[in-house]
Amino acid sequence: MKSSNVNIDELVNSIIGEALTSNNNEATKPVSKPSISIIGKSGIFDNVSDAAEAALAAFKILNESPLKVRQNIVDALRERLSSKIPLMAEMACKETGMGNVTDKIAKNTAALTQTPGTEDLESRVITGDLGMTLFEYSPYGVVGSICPSTNPTETIINNAIGMISAGNSVFFSPHPGAKASSLWLIEIIEEIIFDVSGIKNVVVSVKEPTFDTTKEMMANADIPLLVVTGGPGIVNMAMKTGKKVIGAGAGNPPVIVDETADIKKAARDIIKGASFDYNVPCVAEKEVIVVQDVASELMHEFGLNGAFIVDKEHEVEMIKKAVISQDGNVNKGLVGKSPATILRAAGIGFHEEPKLVVVKVEQNDPLMKLEQLMPCLPVTTARNFDEALKLAVEVEGGCLHTAMMHSKDVYRLGQAAKALRTSIFVKNAPSYAALGVDAEGFVTFTIATPTGEGTTSARSFARSRRCVLSEGFNIR
Ligand code: NAD
Repeated sequence: MKSSNVNIDELVNSIIGEALTSNNNEATKPVSKPSISIIGKSGIFDNVSDAAEAALAAFKILNESPLKVRQNIVDALRERLSSKIPLMAEMACKETGMGNVTDKIAKNTAALTQTPGTEDLESRVITGDLGMTLFEYSPYGVVGSICPSTNPTETIINNAIGMISAGNSVFFSPHPGAKASSLWLIEIIEEIIFDVSGIKNVVVSVKEPTFDTTKEMMANADIPLLVVTGGPGIVNMAMKTGKKVIGAGAGNPPVIVDETADIKKAARDIIKGASFDYNVPCVAEKEVIVVQDVASELMHEFGLNGAFIVDKEHEVEMIKKAVISQDGNVNKGLVGKSPATILRAAGIGFHEEPKLVVVKVEQNDPLMKLEQLMPCLPVTTARNFDEALKLAVEVEGGCLHTAMMHSKDVYRLGQAAKALRTSIFVKNAPSYAALGVDAEGFVTFTIATPTGEGTTSARSFARSRRCVLSEGFNIR
């Protein structure tokens, strides 16, 4: 997204100043001013090679430390970061201009409380007449974590917990458009880690993160593993380095609604998911395909649940003109903006601020294939389930990332999951269930489809190693 010249202290002070003078919004309730100690420069280096060298030294100490040290770090992060989440969410929203504070608080809280720690590193043992073989998860060393502008602090929290649990130190490369809030958070994490473990530079970054510093980090010989959470460009770039890459790329998640679905619930769930943090999560509903018999009922329910329905041909064109830029790509200026901002940009009048803009389109409309990353949801119809599934596979575009379906037909749900081949398939729930929010399962903000790890956790950031003991410990 946009690049930023925001200074950390200025950003913190401006948010605190606004918060203290504003009381009309849940999102801007007063937050206490952070102490100077959390705005220090811990872990932040002038250049890439110094940061990588420091992180390597930290890894060596961590690697010789008991497993308990890692879990102590995770416990301390969970405890001490929680009070900072409201400020963190405000900083990220303000700096990136994307998403909303309430949902960012929910996302950051989920990352902090539900990212698995060292318990994720389950060992496996095989014993027999010839002895015992042990399979364990061991660290890589320094992990280069490249984070997106859309979930900047969530990804740092999620990756820090997972990567450190696996025994690694981490070099974070934030998006330049989210650098102030990201560096602020990295410093706090580093100070908590030092306080609890006495190890310095377990998390590092550079004071001026740019695309060039990210490229330099990717090429640094001290960093054996790159974990990239972002669009296809940076994932492909990382894969060309020849290093081990965990690539979490873009998606275009379709939603299928068939005639057996509970339409009222489907409408509520789709609105909740597609409006969450103004649709910036990569898993969020990006287009809906509804079987025609229940299409008008679904649209009616969308309206009852706070959506603004755009179904007149000329208004659909106005939306498309605003959302799609002349080169056929998404208008980046509207990414992560509110539904009201999108309607205003399109020149469409409205009374109450809607939760979501729902746009009725043809099957072949360009909106169906674009990853909009904004609360503007195209909806099209299909004659039956088979046609809906075929179209869903087509518009998902081979990202194999995430898909949703609302149906009571178990056979069809299975058929769709198999045909779509996505890393995540959500049945009868809002898309954020995919992240582990309001659903069973752990939380992740790095969903690695191109490289196959899927929903990542500590074990994804570890090497599998085999340890063989001959003629021993078979006591059966
Ligand atoms: P982005 O690709 O613009 O940026 C991601 C990261 O890559 C940033 O740190 C950025 O600085 C770096 N980067 C981008 N271009 C670069 C270049 N030319 N040279 C060096 N570094 C470069 O993505 P974004 O806009 O920040 O995030 C949104 C995208 O990320 C969406 O496509 C979304 O689907 C995807 N995403 C995927 C996941 C997942 O888990 N699969 C999670 C979040 C976001």
